[in-house]
Amino acid sequence: MDKADVVIVGAGPAGSSAAFFLAQQGIEVVLIDKSHFPREKACGDGLGPRAIQIMNKMGLGNWLASGSYYRCNRVRMVSSMGSRFEAHIPAEDTPYPYFYIVSRRDLDHKLVETASSAGARVYMGHKAVSPVVSNGTVKGVRTSCNGEETEISCKILVCADGTNGSFAKYLGLQSVKPHAFAARAYFSNVKGLDDCINIYIDERIPEGYAWIFPVSETTANIGLGVSCPKMKQLDVDVKRLIRWFVSEKDTSPIDLSDAAAATDIKGAHLRMGYGRYKSVADGVLLVGDSAGLINPLTGEGIAYALESGEQAALVIRHAFSKGDISERALMLYQNHLNKNFYMNHRVYELIRFGLANYTWMDKLIKKGAKHPELAAKFTSIMMSTAKPSSIFMPKMLRCMLF
Ligand SMILES: Cc1cc2nc3c(=O)[nH]c(=O)nc-3n(C[C@H](O)[C@H](O)[C@H](O)COP(=O)(O)OP(=O)(O)OC[C@H]3O[C@@H](n4cnc5c(N)ncnc54)[C@H](O)[C@@H]3O)c2cc1C
Repeated sequence: MDKADVVIVGAGPAGSSAAFFLAQQGIEVVLIDKSHFPREKACGDGLGPRAIQIMNKMGLGNWLASGSYYRCNRVRMVSSMGSRFEAHIPAEDTPYPYFYIVSRRDLDHKLVETASSAGARVYMGHKAVSPVVSNGTVKGVRTSCNGEETEISCKILVCADGTNGSFAKYLGLQSVKPHAFAARAYFSNVKGLDDCINIYIDERIPEGYAWIFPVSETTANIGLGVSCPKMKQLDVDVKRLIRWFVSEKDTSPIDLSDAAAATDIKGAHLRMGYGRYKSVADGVLLVGDSAGLINPLTGEGIAYALESGEQAALVIRHAFSKGDISERALMLYQNHLNKNFYMNHRVYELIRFGLANYTWMDKLIKKGAKHPELAAKFTSIMMSTAKPSSIFMPKMLRCMLF
């Protein structure tokens, strides 16, 4: 039987980050994933300032800046009622006031390689099928690879199996339920792409938005996300909506008249709104989407997957140094998440609730066009580089009213 100090289930950004930071501290770690990397993953591929910050910590700053990946410095928000603002990502709120678009095929593969170079043992094509539990405590994981079952014993298990994962429930923990569904495809022959990421608000996209993220000067990741309750209530077919967006919607200044689909449309649910359930148990931690860390306003999740992986690694090292891996000791991790995400996610949910009214969203964009400081603040809030509550500062409320 194989063994390690820590086993991590899932090698997305959360799992790879946890593996990297654990291995860097000399902790023996095994990272498993049911897929073989490089692999596709449905995503907008947007890496905002917070994701870039932690990737720099992982030594990947030069890789990002190598010139292979498209960099945007501005956000363009467009409402179908005619209003539009363009704003730079405010440099006063982050040392990285830009946004890279990196395919998840490349990103996730690079992160796994980085974890492996730091010393993590990586097992691809290994599906975690069940935890090994003894006296009520998790002692390892049973995996299946090419039809063969094996066991890896460990002291701590990190659950990083993402939005579709179900491993948390085997560990006796509840996961945040999906609140939205998003899908995307890559399109070539896109004209008018510049250094903006493009966000479109439209009545036909209920409680959500569409995006055009440039991948090159003529190729874009185009997709949209909608809330699950609205999707059900209005019987929304997201794939059909994307086809409508590309073929019929006026997306100026981006011209999609000759755009051709380069891939199929792929999508997934989003587990957003951290804080309703526990993220730790004896010898267990949940990271990334598995802990519901996706931003409830924007759907951004990579940054928080990376951040939670790092934080989990710090708390695990501390727990090992104290010889206590009980839920009580691991609460340090939960406390950190609570401090960073709990209130912010409630405020993001409140803003989402307000802006679900399409005409309010249109008004906000109109006011953003009139008051650059409001556009800049809203951009920082979307990038999670400013507190979401800062939208309620008197100065911002005045911009919205007048
Ligand atoms: C259409 C769409 C667009 C998005 N756009 C953006 C964006 O532009 N920017 C952004 O920041 N976020 C975006 N997100 C959210 C982002 O994709 C997630 O927040 C992010 O992938 C979370 O990382 P993770 O490591 O927690 O999970 P994942 O990336 O989902 O990784 C989980 C891994 O676990 C593996 N796994 C699952 N079960 C098992 C098992 N039993 N055994 C072994 N392995 C297992 C999977 O194969 C997978 O590799 C988008 C999401 C969608 C659906």
